[in-house]
Amino acid sequence: MAEASVPQDLSSYEYEPSCPLPSGREARDHVISKGPCQPRDINFPLDNRNRKVLVSWYEKFPWLEYSVSLDKAFCFVCRVFNAQVKKNRTVIGKIIDVVRLLGKLNLPFRGHREDKNSLNKGVFKEFLEHIAKSDSLIEDHLRNSAGAEMYAIIADETPDLSKTEQLAVLVRYVWNGVIEERLLAVEPMEETTAEALFHTIREKLQQCGIEFSNMRGQCYDGASNVSGIHTGLQARIKEISRQQFTHIAMLMF
Ligand SMILES: [Zn+2]
Repeated sequence: MAEASVPQDLSSYEYEPSCPLPSGREARDHVISKGPCQPRDINFPLDNRNRKVLVSWYEKFPWLEYSVSLDKAFCFVCRVFNAQVKKNRTVIGKIIDVVRLLGKLNLPFRGHREDKNSLNKGVFKEFLEHIAKSDSLIEDHLRNSAGAEMYAIIADETPDLSKTEQLAVLVRYVWNGVIEERLLAVEPMEETTAEALFHTIREKLQQCGIEFSNMRGQCYDGASNVSGIHTGLQARIKEISRQQFTHIAMLMF
């Protein structure tokens, strides 16, 4: 991996696992690219039961980090992940603030055209872009969400004229900063149990070459949810996709 340039005052981060990751993207990427802090040429102190850290543990546990100053072990994966979780929570909090404000003012979210050349991308996007001018976290979030592999699914069943249930499967994603929705399939269903819906959705995603594990949200109508079908479907999907966010009634991202 190419050596990223990093400000001098942040260079100590790479050797101190008790420090949280720096918030700046460049410095954070630098620390992550360095990998876990695993000092070897030191005399590890014995504890009160005559035990000490062994260098061989680094081979056995590649995520293991050791802080010389604290004589404590840390987990590199947790350090990286915790920083990301903290950042995501802050970003989500700011986005929810906008959502609540628009709800309070009874304003529509979407614009007629939301592509980057549009002069009015709708209140929600325009608001976030305005905030991004003075908020580097939101700016970073908007920039990095362009062209993401992550997506949400939208699924809904409705009977056709012959009373056959038809399942519509759509994906919602961001491409070049624009929210896109694509209909993948309309599939006749012999049964509409959670398991049957799950298998059909998985099959349709597979056929389109869409990675199941990149799913980050599910959206179904509220009515059928009362019967528990969608709760079961949601749980089945979460088992596999390890989603962080699930919105049943309304999809926001
Ligand atoms: Zn961990």
